[in-house]
Amino acid sequence: MEIDCKIEKITTRTAIGRSIIDKGDKQANLGVIEFNDYLILIDPSPNEAAAKIMKSLLKEKYKKSVKYLLVSHYHWDHTFGLPPFSDSTILGSEELMKILQEINVNQRQQHKEVIVLPDITFSEKLVIRDASLAVEFYYYGGGHTKCSTFAYFPEEKVLFTGDSPMKKGKENISDNNVLLMIH
Ligand SMILES: [Zn+2]
Repeated sequence: MEIDCKIEKITTRTAIGRSIIDKGDKQANLGVIEFNDYLILIDPSPNEAAAKIMKSLLKEKYKKSVKYLLVSHYHWDHTFGLPPFSDSTILGSEELMKILQEINVNQRQQHKEVIVLPDITFSEKLVIRDASLAVEFYYYGGGHTKCSTFAYFPEEKVLFTGDSPMKKGKENISDNNVLLMIH
């Protein structure tokens, strides 16, 4: 398997990490928010090998570790890369936890590796703050999957939408000047 990972700056404190597998056969993105002393990620990378590369690229670029990682939804390309980030606090919706627990019952029955579960779950909204910055995580009960969550970074008006498409009029996006789709 050939994996090409890179980090592209979006705004002063946000970036997108791209993992391109086998020259674009599969591609997955993650979101990065740089807080003062640590990083927050939205999604891990599509698999463990890509996640390990991404983790060292992030360390090299920012000299900070990933303190929190939001899993935007349960799909394999948003969960199979979690093991290298097991030293981070994993966040997700309560619905995500339910779905992953069900998947893990099947994984165990088939003697396959279980998926890393969130450490902290939320039902509607969760806010992480440091001395001067905050990121808001939202669960609206739908979107791309029934466990999908969004992350909003008000400081720079950046919205991370997971795989969920944004429909004008459905969500209030008028105040946001940057929209990121994470596939
Ligand atoms: Zn998906």
